[in-house]
Amino acid sequence: MPQSVKSLVREIYQQEGYVYARSPEEIAKTYGFTQVARLASNENPFGPSPKAVAAVQEATRTMHRYPDTGSGDLVHALNEYHGDFEFVTGVGMDGVIETCIRVLVNPGEKVAISVPTFSFYGLAAKAQGAEVINIPRRNDFSVDVDAFITAAKGAKISFLCSPNNPTGTLTSPEDIERIADALEGVLFLDNAYVEFSDLDYRDLMHRHENLIIGRTMSKVFGLAGCRIGYAFIPSWLKPIYATAATPFTVNTLSLAAATGALTDQEYVERSISHVRSWIQKFRTTCKMPVLPGGANFVMIDTAPKTGDECAKALAERGVIVRSCRSFPGLADHYIRVCVGEDWECEQFLTEINRLC
Ligand SMILES: *Cc1c(COP(=O)(O)O)cnc(C)c1O
Repeated sequence: MPQSVKSLVREIYQQEGYVYARSPEEIAKTYGFTQVARLASNENPFGPSPKAVAAVQEATRTMHRYPDTGSGDLVHALNEYHGDFEFVTGVGMDGVIETCIRVLVNPGEKVAISVPTFSFYGLAAKAQGAEVINIPRRNDFSVDVDAFITAAKGAKISFLCSPNNPTGTLTSPEDIERIADALEGVLFLDNAYVEFSDLDYRDLMHRHENLIIGRTMSKVFGLAGCRIGYAFIPSWLKPIYATAATPFTVNTLSLAAATGALTDQEYVERSISHVRSWIQKFRTTCKMPVLPGGANFVMIDTAPKTGDECAKALAERGVIVRSCRSFPGLADHYIRVCVGEDWECEQFLTEINRLC
């Protein structure tokens, strides 16, 4: 391609984007395994809920039509599930994050992010031309509330994740409330893993007009492949969000899958108890230090090995975990490991302990 055409591409897309986990097919082929333990992407290992599958089958009948723009059935199911709140939906919570940034941030304006954390907030903010302010957590990865409030001054939107990816760290609803109270901009609280913790932030929506709480159907609800997420949103922002969103964003089949999954509480509870018992076992059995946290994964300190070395050694033994090197603001000696099926967790524990 002639250089002159390539130079049309914006500078930010000439750099590295989102870092994906290595694919199981690639690992299986490279190291000669028939199956590999997939513990890098925080997915639900149980397969989708049969209720989600049935709802998708039913919805195929209407897939010649454009989807319901208001996600009406899903919003109804969310109201049944959570009570009286306003919701917006998106292509994964990632889609919700992107739309929220588009709604609020002009090029050159500030977006504040509590780091180390999920990388997509920063990528989406830069795509909008924002100035990104990374606000470091303390050494134990807790949020320094006063430092956060000071550094986030002037930001149009600030991002804070609890339980935090990849550290697992919890921030209390009281701390979130203090931050929301103090900020002039919007606070986006990412609750992708909240179902695995004992914390509940929903009540804060009744008291704060500048709070958005992001949720996803990809983790405990087992629909990562459907790409559907949602958020609790203040009522003033909801119609504006709809104006900014890509037309017909969420597709008919994903809407049906999410609506079906929300009716299967037995599946959710079984998933949570499976995760909790394995997290407990990771803590007691793994010889490397496992950090405290409340998600379906743990972060493990692999020093003196780097996270990259450890992830590579585990891949050679048929276990895919996530090296945390690509997370902004984190040292290079951590891996993130999620709870998979029993055999996957057992294989991980055996192999990690052999590396010590
Ligand atoms: C997985 C994840 C999301 C969103 O996932 P989607 O699949 O886009 O819904 C958002 N935030 C964090 C911290 C996550 O780990």
